[in-house]
Amino acid sequence: VSEPVHNALNVVVIGKQAMNWFDAMQKAYPSVRFGTPDTWSDPLTVQAAVVSEPNALSLRPYENLQFVQSLWMGVDALVADPTLPANVRIARMVDPDMPISMAETVAAYVLWSHRFGDVFQRNQRDQIWQEIAQPLARRRTVGLLGLGTLGSQCARVLIQLGFQVVGWSRTAKPLSGVQVFDDLHAMLDVSEIVVNMLPLTEQTRGLLCARTFSAMQPGAVLINVGRGAHVIDNDLLEALDSNHLRHAVLDVFNVEPLPTVHRFWTHPSVTVTPHVAADSSQETCMPVVIENLRRFAEGLPLNNLVDRTRGY
Ligand code: NAP
Repeated sequence: VSEPVHNALNVVVIGKQAMNWFDAMQKAYPSVRFGTPDTWSDPLTVQAAVVSEPNALSLRPYENLQFVQSLWMGVDALVADPTLPANVRIARMVDPDMPISMAETVAAYVLWSHRFGDVFQRNQRDQIWQEIAQPLARRRTVGLLGLGTLGSQCARVLIQLGFQVVGWSRTAKPLSGVQVFDDLHAMLDVSEIVVNMLPLTEQTRGLLCARTFSAMQPGAVLINVGRGAHVIDNDLLEALDSNHLRHAVLDVFNVEPLPTVHRFWTHPSVTVTPHVAADSSQETCMPVVIENLRRFAEGLPLNNLVDRTRGY
């Protein structure tokens, strides 16, 4: 099926990060007219959008919108936006550097947990000299929730570090060296460190709750770099308070920035990082954005399209 060709392409740019890249995008693709929501006197002439941190309603005025390019890998907010008609195509950011960046973060916190960094940090605060036997990585099983672009790269790096790696994904995923489970609870049962890299969908929202925490091993560590809404906060606090889980490293939260009153900030068994597990850089993302806009303008198939019914 051939796509329409757009000779005069008008693109609206929305979001703080997208705005930071505005001039560079215009320079990289001079024949396209980029504009801010204030630029377009007639929003009906806009065919495409480049967005970061989208909020519902921001795309409502663009009734002839056909394509949204996200600067984020996770597109849950866009997919859930009730103002975005079902026929609008959404492409997520798949930046070649993001899986590398995520794998560095995951490797850092997996190694830190594996080597009891959390326990020694607490012990230092209380001046406790407690020797703990340090097993090698090959004796430690790390469970990955999600084996997509990010999860599969993390699996490769963790295997190189010597860990036993198991995983869980929606469809069967043959990944060399990874034991993939159909049954989530069976996977959690064997994992001592669990890393969440799922997309947020109707099926995965609230997945990390009392039931899944109780399926995890006593003393297990949770690393959440997926989305905050995967976690039921009170259930996680209960699992930590009861010492069923040893520690949680949390990069993403139900409300961001994490409210100052939230118990995660001061909990001795929680490490908070401010949604920085895998940042996108202009240098590597810009060519991805420009290529997809060029494809849209020329009526070619778009890259990295989201399956809107599947939700990711
Ligand atoms: P992806 O390539 O789409 O992979 C998603 C993985 O999750 C796939 O393996 C998929 O299974 C699996 N999955 C989806 N729904 C599932 C379900 N209901 N049950 C079991 N498995 C399911 O996504 P990605 O690029 O790896 O990114 C994953 C998420 O990471 C993003 O959506 C975003 O929320 C988050 N993220 C966070 C940061 C950060 O800085 N913290 C940065 C970037 C991304 P199939 O393989 O069968 O499809």
